[in-house]
Amino acid sequence: MSGTQRSEAVADGVIRVPLASSTLPPFTHTNAYLLASDGVGLVVDPGAAGDEALAALGAGLAALDVRAPKGIVLTHTHRDHVAGVDTLLGRWPDLRVWAPAGELARCDERWRAVGLRHGRRLTLGSAALTLVGTPGHSLDHLALWWPERRLLVAGDLVAGEGSIWVGLPDGDVTRYLESLERAAALDPATVAPAHGPVRRDGATVLASARAHRLEREANLLAALREGPASLPWLRARLYPEVPAAVHDFVDRTLLAHLLKLMRERRVAHVGEGPDGPYSLA
Ligand SMILES: [Zn+2]
Repeated sequence: MSGTQRSEAVADGVIRVPLASSTLPPFTHTNAYLLASDGVGLVVDPGAAGDEALAALGAGLAALDVRAPKGIVLTHTHRDHVAGVDTLLGRWPDLRVWAPAGELARCDERWRAVGLRHGRRLTLGSAALTLVGTPGHSLDHLALWWPERRLLVAGDLVAGEGSIWVGLPDGDVTRYLESLERAAALDPATVAPAHGPVRRDGATVLASARAHRLEREANLLAALREGPASLPWLRARLYPEVPAAVHDFVDRTLLAHLLKLMRERRVAHVGEGPDGPYSLA
């Protein structure tokens, strides 16, 4: 997945523009999406700054007959989704920037970002898009639904291949699973993720993300069935291969799962700090 990736037409009025970004491995790119109807266009998740990114986005907009985009929609405010906002504002100073209402505090003041919530509609030429609240990967993550295309621009709700990171402090496994169900209820034909390829099997990609998360939970519960366990022990048990450099990420993933199970009173925290130990309740 390294090297330059090419832009791709996803649907009528939709182009994927993969931009090399500072994102989490194994990914190397963040997909920006250009959505357009009747010459009115939006940029979703411009995750890279600079001339190369601007040229790629500009070419895509031109292909969609958009002279100046109406605005930018951010599915969430992680750095690899917003790094290109300043570049776009430099080129089109009047761009409106929309971001999840619950993440406005993480937006640069100069963007003058406007908050979006679940259910809000955005008009795009003759099309009406709907924002879908999909928190879990981040605090107030939103996906963008284009009903006529049965297309879900998914941000980091799912990845085109592999899995999305859900870990503390932003991550919440309970809400993440609810978000996958909410997205599945739309029955999208196409799921356009921010990382990895576009998926034409929308129901499958959402279902497998859910199954993957529940499998991790089952593994965690199985480990705890052996007795109370500390976080480092659980990490060594469940992720014996991971290098020390990513222990922190793994721990924050495990803590997100433990938090869900503690909320459900299936696991108890019997220690003093985040290292536990934890036991079955
Ligand atoms: Zn993210």
